[in-house]
Amino acid sequence: PAAALGHACIGHATPARLAAPAVKEAGAPGLEDYRARGGYATLAAQRDPQAMVAALEASGLRGLGGAGFPAARKWRLVMAQPGPRHLVVNADEGEPGTFKDRHCLETEPHRVLEGMLLAARAIEAEACWIYLRDEYPEIRALLARAIAEIEAAGLAPCPIHLRRGAGAYICGEETALLESLEGRRGYPRHKPPFPGEHGLFGRPTLIHNVETLWWLPEILASPEAAARFAAAGLRGQAGRRLYSLSGRVRRPGVVDAPAGITARELIETHGGGVAEGHRFAAFLPGGASGGILPASRADLPLGFGTLEAEGCFIGSAAIVVLSDRDDLAGAARNLLRFFRDESCGQCTPCRVGTAKAVRLLEAPAWDRALLGELAEAMADGSICGLGQAAMNPVRSLLRHFPEAVP
Ligand code: SF4
Repeated sequence: PAAALGHACIGHATPARLAAPAVKEAGAPGLEDYRARGGYATLAAQRDPQAMVAALEASGLRGLGGAGFPAARKWRLVMAQPGPRHLVVNADEGEPGTFKDRHCLETEPHRVLEGMLLAARAIEAEACWIYLRDEYPEIRALLARAIAEIEAAGLAPCPIHLRRGAGAYICGEETALLESLEGRRGYPRHKPPFPGEHGLFGRPTLIHNVETLWWLPEILASPEAAARFAAAGLRGQAGRRLYSLSGRVRRPGVVDAPAGITARELIETHGGGVAEGHRFAAFLPGGASGGILPASRADLPLGFGTLEAEGCFIGSAAIVVLSDRDDLAGAARNLLRFFRDESCGQCTPCRVGTAKAVRLLEAPAWDRALLGELAEAMADGSICGLGQAAMNPVRSLLRHFPEAVP
């Protein structure tokens, strides 16, 4: 999918406040270019933290890294704690099939930084920390440039630290990320306490995914803008989001579309339809962790809470389309191998469970009862989301595609 991610791939109009960026060969648009299109106007206008949090609440924005926690509630939790406070940007995008944060950072890094500075202002952060996956070296260079530009322009109210990840998927989990930032091995922490109370270096910490920050300059531009954002959602969902559309579609890429759109609408309207010579069979609604759904469920709205009854979830909105030419059992096995390799090994249900699951999935005939029991033990006993969700592909395959299971 990354190869398919050109700047022209975004399938929807760029938000009205900013005209389309003039992406040059040399890299992403700089500060001057962003400002000329209205960039940093929201930061200049928004000075009252309470007004900002009220607008954020009205927008209905939720955490778009995958957990979907209401952003305004997160802000309130951190704001209620005594300072000093930190702001952490989770740019460790590693969920298979997900490449929207890369798109944001590549095409408009200053928009992400403006969002970061807005959030930093709201919580009166002592410092901002950007944790970037190391597999995005070009983005590191352009972010470093963009940070230098805003520091030189006097826009940064506090130090901004750019930190490199080291290739571990688990460091995208927010508490493992904090451990890594503090210089330790990326083991997820037990929660509570939550990072909003006890986060980076023991201080109250607001952690946002890149895309969540991406929306802030638009949402916080005015109360009307916040209401407009909320109203853009369909079928009971609020707002818009960036979908990473890949797999068997004619035009894979990042799509800016309403929350609550269906997978079929995404594929047909934004993806140009299913790839030639393929018949739509199934889709992953949320990358590796969100399970597998049959094409017959493609008319369900994609949103937080809309797929759970089917045993799946939207997470980071990585929609991977599979066809009649794909081996679904093989896909589930492959995903479990990924989780086995990426398990941090801290807790037994996940460390042993993912390895055992792979062995069971490599057998000529799957032991369905044992797989079901293992899935339950892992969901109940694992410390973090990796182990809790690792068996989703297997569970949903057993439920929706019994005929595909050996
Ligand atoms: Fe590590 Fe897996 Fe346990 Fe998470 S669930 S802490 S990844 S071993």
